[in-house]
Amino acid sequence: MEIVLADYAGFCFGVKRALQMTHEASGRHNSLKSLGPLIHNPQVVEQLERQGVGVAHNTDEVQDDVVIIRSHGVSPDVLERLEGKAKATINATCPFVSRAQQLANRLTEEGYRTVVVGDKNHPEVIGIVGWTKGKAIVVETPEQAQGLDLHGEKVAVIAQTTQPEENFRAAVEILKKQKNDLVVHNTICHATRERQEAASRLARSVDLMVVVGGRNSANTKKLAKLCQATGTPTYHIEHAGELCAPWFQDIKRVGVTAGASTPEWIIEEVVEKMTDIKNEDINKEEMEQEGTAAETVEQEAEENAAQE
Ligand code: SF4
Repeated sequence: MEIVLADYAGFCFGVKRALQMTHEASGRHNSLKSLGPLIHNPQVVEQLERQGVGVAHNTDEVQDDVVIIRSHGVSPDVLERLEGKAKATINATCPFVSRAQQLANRLTEEGYRTVVVGDKNHPEVIGIVGWTKGKAIVVETPEQAQGLDLHGEKVAVIAQTTQPEENFRAAVEILKKQKNDLVVHNTICHATRERQEAASRLARSVDLMVVVGGRNSANTKKLAKLCQATGTPTYHIEHAGELCAPWFQDIKRVGVTAGASTPEWIIEEVVEKMTDIKNEDINKEEMEQEGTAAETVEQEAEENAAQE
């Protein structure tokens, strides 16, 4: 069984940056908390907790702590609330998310109604909507874009940075039918685009795909969905312990990709475990072949003895 790792699997630029800022800050501050889990990966969050980096699930849980804003960013009112509560704020919002926030803010000031193509419950989208003073409309699917009434408004459309390109394009096409002067800003980040393209490409060339990442990670779930859409059987796992040997029976080539919040050590463990499964199979096969060979030799000896 050949194991192929996708190009661009694992931590993206924004996540690496947020983690680096957190590690640096943990050496300088005693009471350090991220506002929400720093990244959507439970194993990494546990590791950070062991290093003394806590989680404040909302601003009410902040009391004189140093607070890290994660790569998803937050709305301006959350920043304002933190000013009165936190000892200091370290803003690790990914620059690509900041760009989408600033754009949404500018468009609102220019009188545009902004449509955000994304998951309405995702923290990044909640933050972006906050930068439009709550005026943006979120659509998750092209079908939802179809139902919008945008009559008499200047309309602009932007994307959650981790949206699948096709979903964004399809929503734009539908909006354009209603608004031929629609202003389009594709704010999908290049890390997402590269990762999704590489995952789909790999999925098309293998017998099985394994997508590694937190079950609460939206971008990992999207990767799994994209891989599945190619028709290749796909498993979404969080760690190596979830791999099952029967999945790999009769599989000649397996692809591995990972979400933007999956650390390298988890990917390595997954590949190692797959290699073990592969080797166990080879050993079993060899033992079976040896067993058959031994039986054949024994049979031959018995036949020879009978002939003598
Ligand atoms: Fe930044 Fe893109 Fe990573 Fe999101 S997926 S944190 S926008 S680099």
